[in-house]
Amino acid sequence: MIYFDYNATAPVMREAREAWLSVTEKLGGNPSSMHQAGTRAAIVLAEAREKLAAFLGCHPLDLVWTSGATEANNTVMHHFAARLAPTERVFVSAIEHPCVDESSKFYFGKRVKTIPVTREGVVDLDWLTSELADARPGLVAVMAANNETGVLQPWREILAICQAYDIPFFTDAVQYLGKQPGKGLGDCSYVSGAAHKFGGPRGVGFLKVPHRSQLTPLLLGGKQEGGRRAGTENVPIIAAMIAALEMREKQMFRSEHLLRKVWRDNFEAQFLRALPGATILGQNQPRLWNTVSALMPEGDRKSQWVVRLDKAGFAVSTGSACTTGKEEPSHVLSAMGYKSAQAMRAVRFSAGWETYEADWEALLKAILKVHADMQHKG
Ligand code: PLP
Repeated sequence: MIYFDYNATAPVMREAREAWLSVTEKLGGNPSSMHQAGTRAAIVLAEAREKLAAFLGCHPLDLVWTSGATEANNTVMHHFAARLAPTERVFVSAIEHPCVDESSKFYFGKRVKTIPVTREGVVDLDWLTSELADARPGLVAVMAANNETGVLQPWREILAICQAYDIPFFTDAVQYLGKQPGKGLGDCSYVSGAAHKFGGPRGVGFLKVPHRSQLTPLLLGGKQEGGRRAGTENVPIIAAMIAALEMREKQMFRSEHLLRKVWRDNFEAQFLRALPGATILGQNQPRLWNTVSALMPEGDRKSQWVVRLDKAGFAVSTGSACTTGKEEPSHVLSAMGYKSAQAMRAVRFSAGWETYEADWEALLKAILKVHADMQHKG
């Protein structure tokens, strides 16, 4: 099986597995316990916090460990629901992951104002700039990179505008972290991340909150994380997450990393030449180096592609994992202005650090064979 679904979950890397095993074997204590076993676990936790803070550029105590990005993102909305005045609005981009989109609607309902995106899948900065000049929402939420298209969002520019107006800015950096350098993200008021998107274990992530600020906890019943998130910290998986991120932060500065984008771009060029009628979404925008979001030629339905490529030995996706199974067009593509029938032809190929040129070439061959089979058999 050749794996092209890293944006759903990346395989756990060796360094992360080793860190998990080592901490599990050697450090059995609860980091909140006063005895030596507890203290040793607390030290590992503090070191992990310091490393993550250094990658993001924030204070270690700004970081709260969570069970993943879904929890972190829900916590942000929960916190602002408790904090904002009943008339205050929140601005949320149209292409957020459902765990931001749905939780913002749950807590704020009609007080959510949707930030539109362009046809290329980038948040409309002109719209946002002019709206923010008039309105002062209680929160602006725009992800750093989109999970379906890989399109990078102008989070630095949005952060600067929000800072000028003193509006808290929240960015979901789940797909960005580990693929792009984390530095600078720590300047955003709130940032979320999840280990399994960059080679760490599933079920662990973090939320960065403003320094020394109170956070209205989503989970109650313990004083862990400075009272911001109750529940015993899972030290081994946190150590594994940081080991993975440490490796990714090194890998992206090695010269061979540049090739990953070249291989992806070559694939796209050949793909478009070989498949008339196919489109690559956000192709002319700055994008993550690993993602190809394609509208397959007319008449080819996306679910068939996934099943047929799976049979041929390739794991690909129809969009975000959370919408898989529902035959509904992706809200991201709808926001980009694609009609339902077009959006139903979207297939996502997301590569990783272990994907090489030969894998892209093999994928292209398989796609062409499946396309020929579909045309032949209908
Ligand atoms: N945010 C983005 C952009 C994602 O891609 C995902 C996962 O697909 C999440 C949040 C949710 O992450 P998790 O399922 O690890 O909680």
